[in-house]
Order: sequence, then C-alpha cells, then structure tokens
Amino acid sequence: MSITQNITRLKESLPADVTLVAVSKFHPVEALKEAYDAGQRIFGESRAQELVAKQKQLPGDIEWHFIGPLQSNKVKDIAPFIHTIQSIDSLKLLHEVNKQAARCKRVIRVLLEIHVAEEESKHGFSPEECRQLLQSGVLAEFPNVCVSGLMGMATNTEDIALIGREFHLLYTLFCDLKVLYFKESNDFRELSMGMSHDYPLAIREGSTMIRVGTGIFGEREY
Ligand SMILES: *Cc1c(COP(=O)(O)O)cnc(C)c1O
Repeated sequence: MSITQNITRLKESLPADVTLVAVSKFHPVEALKEAYDAGQRIFGESRAQELVAKQKQLPGDIEWHFIGPLQSNKVKDIAPFIHTIQSIDSLKLLHEVNKQAARCKRVIRVLLEIHVAEEESKHGFSPEECRQLLQSGVLAEFPNVCVSGLMGMATNTEDIALIGREFHLLYTLFCDLKVLYFKESNDFRELSMGMSHDYPLAIREGSTMIRVGTGIFGEREY
C-alpha cells in the first residue's frame, strides 16, 4: 500500500469529528510531500531539529503538531510556527512555551500529556497532578498559551481490556476537567489518543484526535 492509499483508506474509515495527525517522524520529506499531495495537512513530529528542517521545505499551510518529549531550550526553535504542542508534561515547559509564544506575538495551542500507561518511561502528568495544575489557577499567568485538551498513550500491550480501561480513564478525566475548568470556553476540546495499533479502540472510547505514523508511512528506520 502506498502512502496515498493509506491516507485515503484511513480517512474514509474515520468518523467526521475525529482529526487525523500524520506522524511523520523519522520519515523523509518526500514521504511527507506524498501525504500532503493526498490532502493531509496535519503532521506530527517528535524532534525539534527534524521538525524545523522539514518545516522549511514544505508548504506553509501545514499544521505542525509536536508530540514528543520537548526540552525547554528547544521551544524557541519551533515557537514561530508550531500549531500545537501535544506533549506538555511540566509547569516549567508551559512557562517556556508561554514566554516564547509571547516573543513571537503568538498564541500556541497545547495539550497536557497525561500518564496513564503502566510503562515507567511514558512522560506526562498523573491525572491528580493535572487536576492540581488546573485547580491552582496558574493558567491565568499564561496568556500566550491556549490549553486545548489532553494527550495520552495507552500501555503497549496485547491486553485490549487494559488499553480500553486506560483510554476510558483519559476520557473521564477530559470530561471532568472540561466541566470543572473550561465551562465558559470551547477551547478545551481535543482528546488526543490512539496510535496505529490502537486507534479504533481509542475512537470508541471518545478520542477526537488520533496520531498515526506506521499505519500511513510504514515502519520507521531509526
Ligand atoms: C511515534 C508516535 C506516534 C505514532 O506511532 P505509530 O505506532 O507509528 O502510529 C503517536 N504518538 C506519539 C506520542 C508518538 O511518539
């Protein structure tokens, strides 16, 4: 299957209210061009340097999402153009994104990354830490950041019931936070969950945004 065919088939199968982020990390610019020509406009990358290099070579109407661990000192490199940073996992990072967005006279959308998986290695706030962050009211100090929702990853396992429970936990948290802290605004509306191997399940559990790499571009060569 070609990239074009993968995108076409995937889009046909998705509910209209689910957004597809094409995760293009480690794939060459030619692959992204093929996806672009197939109509894809939202791309996800996980390394700042790679993203900056690709952004320069590709059309300006692409919506770039950052989805990997982000060091504070790299924020300034992507701040001029990044659409959404999905992987906010600390107050410090939020602070830096606000600062760099202000310097560029922009408002950058962010998702708070929530850790629900069993693996130690996965980044993110615990659900409790996230609640505390919002409860503290600190977001009011960050006018150049728009908190647009949550992002999460399920455990990498064959255990479908476990994956389902983790997605459900994310969905429940998302709904709670929306009611508690974002009642007045429609900004908080994205629940980014689901990757190549588990996105159908994520959609059943309430995902609004899936992040698919391998299912579009094939295996990555690291
Ligand atoms: C790499 C990556 C993906 C895409 O994974 P695939 O299994 O290739 O679909 C999605 N989300 C995040 C955060 C990633 O780092």
